[in-house]
Amino acid sequence: MRIVLLGPPGAGKGTQARRLAESTGMTHLSTGDMLRSEVASGTELGLLAKKFMDSGELVPDSDIIAMIQQHIADPEGVLLDGFPRTLVQAKSLDKALDHANLPIDQVIHMSVNTDELIRRLSSRVVCKECQTPYNLEVDPPVKSGVCDQCAGDVIVRDDDRPDAVKNRMKVYEELTAPVLDYYQLHRNVAEVIATGTPDAVFAKLSTAIRSGAPFN
Ligand code: AMP
Repeated sequence: MRIVLLGPPGAGKGTQARRLAESTGMTHLSTGDMLRSEVASGTELGLLAKKFMDSGELVPDSDIIAMIQQHIADPEGVLLDGFPRTLVQAKSLDKALDHANLPIDQVIHMSVNTDELIRRLSSRVVCKECQTPYNLEVDPPVKSGVCDQCAGDVIVRDDDRPDAVKNRMKVYEELTAPVLDYYQLHRNVAEVIATGTPDAVFAKLSTAIRSGAPFN
């Protein structure tokens, strides 16, 4: 099974994709997490990506496609979080899956209004080691500054600082919103209003997946 989770920065894709991967056994593929791990390891891709990420810009399509290509046919099934983020990426995903004779089973759009997104992003922190996200208002780590999962340091992401957030919203509207239009034009997209507690959103997403709103 392959599911694409779409939504603006701050919609809760990462939080929910982790939980859904745990509950379904699918592999969580987050291009943001993959890039942050490249940055942390100081690889060539990480050095290149950091410049774009810190300012809220997108990393070039060719680098993203090369990074994710080998993972999309994972036999456990994949939950795509943060990819595709441009039309070029969406078309390249279609092509790669066609080639492997694999369908996208579902596209789910998580929508949240802009005020709520900005509020969420400005209270978001993340574990530097395992990338578990927290929200200081509604879902803080049990011990301040320490990850519940791995005891790593919990920090503010550079791209959650106000200037970068503003730019990420702009980039989303310009480059990523057309991906939603692209899927809506060609297939059914399951719409989930991703407001409320993380548990409530998780319940809505689980229902959408169980009911299998088709990708046809
Ligand atoms: P995320 O954790 O998904 O919010 O991603 C954090 C940052 O990583 C984004 O603001 C981009 O700079 C970069 N990034 C993640 N996924 C992609 C992608 N599919 N295409 C281009 N850049 C990406």
